[in-house]
Amino acid sequence: MTRSRYSIYSLTRNAFSYHRNWPKAWRSPEPKPVYDVIIVGGGGHGLATAYYLAKEHNVTNIAVLEKGWIGGGNTGRNTTIIRSNYLWDESAAIYEKSLQLFEGLSRDLNFNLMVSQRGVLNLAHNQHDLHELSRRVNSNRLNGIDSEILSPAQVKDMVPILNVTSNSRYPVLGASLQRRGGVARHDAVAWGLARAADARGVDVIQNCEVKGFLREGNCITGVETTKGIIKAPKVGVVVAGHAGVLAAMAGLRLPIESHPLQALVSEPLKPFLHTVIMSGSVHVYVSQSDKGELVVGAGIDAYNSYAQRGSISIVEDMLAASIELFPVFSRLRMMRQWGGIVDTSPDASPILSKTPIDGLYINCGWGTGGFKATPGSGWTFAYTIAHDRPHKLNEPFSLDRFTTGALIDEHGAAAVSH
Ligand SMILES: Cc1cc2nc3c(=O)[nH]c(=O)nc-3n(C[C@H](O)[C@H](O)[C@H](O)COP(=O)(O)OP(=O)(O)OC[C@H]3O[C@@H](n4cnc5c(N)ncnc54)[C@H](O)[C@@H]3O)c2cc1C
Repeated sequence: MTRSRYSIYSLTRNAFSYHRNWPKAWRSPEPKPVYDVIIVGGGGHGLATAYYLAKEHNVTNIAVLEKGWIGGGNTGRNTTIIRSNYLWDESAAIYEKSLQLFEGLSRDLNFNLMVSQRGVLNLAHNQHDLHELSRRVNSNRLNGIDSEILSPAQVKDMVPILNVTSNSRYPVLGASLQRRGGVARHDAVAWGLARAADARGVDVIQNCEVKGFLREGNCITGVETTKGIIKAPKVGVVVAGHAGVLAAMAGLRLPIESHPLQALVSEPLKPFLHTVIMSGSVHVYVSQSDKGELVVGAGIDAYNSYAQRGSISIVEDMLAASIELFPVFSRLRMMRQWGGIVDTSPDASPILSKTPIDGLYINCGWGTGGFKATPGSGWTFAYTIAHDRPHKLNEPFSLDRFTTGALIDEHGAAAVSH
């Protein structure tokens, strides 16, 4: 099965028919009774898993089952930041793999993901911040990841609108910068992966909710869905904020909490912010989308919830923090606000693992920062499912680290810094 390629020639050809004859980007098949692999969850991570299973491991008899529409979960709700400047070696390796895949993914998928490596700045407002950022920059460099410390004057040079005066409440003492970090268009990531997976024979099935698991002894044999029973000897669960719900259906308890995480966008403005700015201390981050809207995000709501909205106090805090950094934003109008349900783990690191049930695999715990990991997560999870053992990149992220104590504490790199 092949899809026609997107190119300047197909664009020109379709212009003659007023763009009415473009083929569908992916099929909408009814589920078959049996597959080799079922992926539960049609977000970026689930679609990437299916894509790399087909591309790298020649497993093409796959169904991706999505209860709503693809990318309708956190994939289509995030603030699109990509970077790899995590502290520990294990995290740096997997996030850097993902960033490298992102760098070639538009070409690989023949789909413009609008990857824009405009740099990601983390501001330091006190000596402790500077010390912590320097530690992370040094650690990144030892892992071969581009990372540097900027002086306040260099920060001002990159972001002239930023208030770096010493009499501000949170003076800017410097920043870390990953120049290869930036943003990518989140919907396009889901759509590009779905199209490319479909072209390799993967059935992407929307409006199909998984309601239970079928087992024979300790082996998984399939799933019960709103479209009936579908069998497969291997099932990968990639449902982000609903990981605990799905795990409970299989009789497992995960060390995952589900929290709302909000973001909002402003009215469109002329381009003035050409990088991504984060401040852990003031607790906000801002970038400007290609449409001109400011994309603003902050930390999670403190309570557990499955409602895809958050509380107004967080919105107030986000706006107060952004005005602290950019006083001129006080005249901005905010246009849209939304929430997603993020799956946080005790050490702020993901779980990419086999489970105690044979044939059942789990990919979750990406919390507030999994968009940047989409291709790397899919790539390693596909390996794990295909070989029934983890790749060395995701071995440290197994479930058993919560019993062995080999935690990978990334709260510093993952807190407000998505
Ligand atoms: C406001 C916000 C801002 C964020 N900003 C960033 C950022 O800037 N950078 C970054 O790296 N990360 C960010 N993240 C985190 C990132 O969005 C997620 O970690 C990532 O998108 C998770 O991808 P996923 O494919 O695992 O999950 P999802 O996209 O949520 O996909 C899971 C899918 O599973 C489906 N599902 C659930 N239950 C079932 C079921 N029973 N049957 C079938 N399907 C089911 C859901 O409908 C959903 O589509 C942000 C998140 C939010 C909410």
